[in-house]
Amino acid sequence: MGSNPHQIHIAIIGGGIAGLALAAGLTKKSHISFHIYESVPSHADVGAGLALHANAIKAMALLGPEVRRAYFDAAVSVASEEDEEIATEVILAQGSHAGEKVAELGRAKGRKSVSRADLLAGLRGLVPAERISWGKRLEGIVDHGESGKGGVKMRFKDGTEAEADCVIGADGIHSVVRAYLLGEDHPATKPKNHDGWQVYRTLVSVEDARKQIDEKWTKGVPILLGPSGHVNCIPMNKGTRISAGVAVRGGALEGGGAKKLDPELYADYSEEAKKIVRMVAKDTTASWSVGDHDHAPFYSKGCVAMMGDAAHASLPFAGNGAAQALEDAAVLDHLFGLVRQVSRVEAALTAYDAVRRPRSQAVVNLARAFGRVYAYAEGDIHENPQKMREFFAGAALFTNEADLKKQNDEAVKTYESSIRGRSKSCADNSEQDTGSGFE
Ligand code: FAD
Repeated sequence: MGSNPHQIHIAIIGGGIAGLALAAGLTKKSHISFHIYESVPSHADVGAGLALHANAIKAMALLGPEVRRAYFDAAVSVASEEDEEIATEVILAQGSHAGEKVAELGRAKGRKSVSRADLLAGLRGLVPAERISWGKRLEGIVDHGESGKGGVKMRFKDGTEAEADCVIGADGIHSVVRAYLLGEDHPATKPKNHDGWQVYRTLVSVEDARKQIDEKWTKGVPILLGPSGHVNCIPMNKGTRISAGVAVRGGALEGGGAKKLDPELYADYSEEAKKIVRMVAKDTTASWSVGDHDHAPFYSKGCVAMMGDAAHASLPFAGNGAAQALEDAAVLDHLFGLVRQVSRVEAALTAYDAVRRPRSQAVVNLARAFGRVYAYAEGDIHENPQKMREFFAGAALFTNEADLKKQNDEAVKTYESSIRGRSKSCADNSEQDTGSGFE
């Protein structure tokens, strides 16, 4: 627990985008103390380039101007001019409509993309170093405080234990906290790869990429579609490297591993797409096997909750996984701003669940639908570019254009009505009111 008895102590499991973003917000709240337990000894340069859409930027702004700034400092401009409008261009690369653009996702002035490692470094810079323990892998939650004898007890792989008033699992797709909340054997606990997706990926320097693919795709963010796989490129590391990938439905082998990426299968694709496939096929060591979560029936129980990929890992195709993690952080941070008593933590987590679960699970569904549309596997939609445009426009409206201030307000309303309706302690029976808070 925190050394100050007047503070609410939160343990954040996992220092990825979700955990660090939440911590960046909580750092500014004097009635909250927190500690991040991160399993790796340090952050490695892993992860694809992220194209954060408008809802991600809005969520960061709600967490604070410095959070938004950390992103913009780490990001690389996709546009050559700051005020040039840029979008992810979704283009058919195969079939009778090859060459037709069917969507412009995340259109924004001065549109940026960022490497996961650079974004993590930026967020880490906002969190006091002493609030993060590295090399601390959570193994289990021993007791979540319902006994009324205190807070939530955690056990780590190194044999140590810790206690907090509240535990937030931001521990990614294979979350231990999720397994604790839902149960090891719950059908939604473990991630699945329903359509056998494999993302073949390579990282190359921009100079190297220029020799192999069309110059425009060393700067832009294309997604080139077809039934053998969809192809994309994202500039990273301040424009010095390109992350290029080919995502293949049915590319993963049952029981692990993947089929070899075969450029011959792309013979009927557009020339620009074929060049990218050939570049990726040369070195697929940076590949990902992807998966997502079937819907969890709840995101919190007592004073334990999950967020980010731990709660709702999605396929990467809607480009909104990190954005949803940031939306979680914005809502949790806002709610914790109001919680001044440990007995109200549970109500805050229930409000978080009520507001965030439906929306984030809808994004999991949407990402699956994106995958099928990209692979020409959603009926005959690929035969009708106009229908495709309508699909993408509807999706953008739901993800990017969401009113996140309203989402925060709704969470507060749910919290308020919940604490009016009940007064239930989930942790410390002898707690004191530590401040005014919401009344
Ligand atoms: P993670 O990033 O997985 O972080 C979890 C952290 O918890 C890690 O640091 C891990 O080491 C730690 N941890 C795990 N287990 C334990 C434990 N037991 N104890 C302690 N610590 C633990 N999203 C977008 O918005 N836009 C995109 O363009 C985009 N592209 C993507 C492309 C690909 C190929 C993939 C795979 C994903 C993409 N995403 C994108 C999704 C995005 O990367 C994730 O949604 C996001 O990183 C989730 O963050 P997180 O913090 O919840 O989880």
